[in-house]
Amino acid sequence: MSNEARKPIISGNWKMNHNHFEAIQCVQKLAYLLTKDDFAAVDVTIHPPFTDLRSVQTLIDADELKFILGAQHCHEVDSGAFTGEISAMFLAKLNVSYVIVGHSERREIFGETDESIHNKIVAIQKSKMTPILCVGETLAEREAGTTYEKVLGQLRSALEKRTAEQIKSMVIAYEPIWAIGTGKTATADDAQRVVSAIREEISKISSANVASAVRLQYGGSVKASNIAEIMAQPDIDGVLVGGASLDAAEFARICQYRLKKQD
Ligand code: PEP
Repeated sequence: MSNEARKPIISGNWKMNHNHFEAIQCVQKLAYLLTKDDFAAVDVTIHPPFTDLRSVQTLIDADELKFILGAQHCHEVDSGAFTGEISAMFLAKLNVSYVIVGHSERREIFGETDESIHNKIVAIQKSKMTPILCVGETLAEREAGTTYEKVLGQLRSALEKRTAEQIKSMVIAYEPIWAIGTGKTATADDAQRVVSAIREEISKISSANVASAVRLQYGGSVKASNIAEIMAQPDIDGVLVGGASLDAAEFARICQYRLKKQD
């Protein structure tokens, strides 16, 4: 499905990297490298660790930067006895707009379940923020031929009882786990096939109208050298970038992928 009507969205997930001093430096470098035209062409969300959020938010506000502030995770409950956790409500108070939910590292290392991911989506949307829902299969699942079963199952569970408007406003990232941080990228064709199946499934869960509006990302070892090919796929509206988003120059080149197309 042609992606012309959907604004591209490029997200940098810093994971547990960059303390708040390094975060400020990285955002300043990025701001220097990206132009007004870049921000007009692409939404750029940055997802620093929790401890950096206040510093980055202050910088964005003070310098009127066009970056959209994101977080990597939140708890599903508003407040209470959950030592070490951060609620969606707290993030919204910091002007966070996008929250990654269901990242494979959260699912695999911290045991997040489909049910808790669904509850987090509810909490994020209740706080008027946008979830970036991650779905993806392991290498074993891919080799066993169960990619679609896994990915579409995660999708159905996450979107349960969400209204058309709520689904439409979400971002969904297809992130094959075997491609995250490994240097292996799904071929652009492969990524397109799974992403297009996600769009088709949304059409069944909700409607064709919702499916054609929702923005879908690919994530997994995206770099400046492979971004243009990935973004050329008709159903891919953006990318979720881990390792390559830590380097301002590399991430800026990723955000400027459209200039490369015109070389
Ligand atoms: C990620 O963290 O979501 C990710 C895709 O990481 P990387 O780009 O390093 O593979």
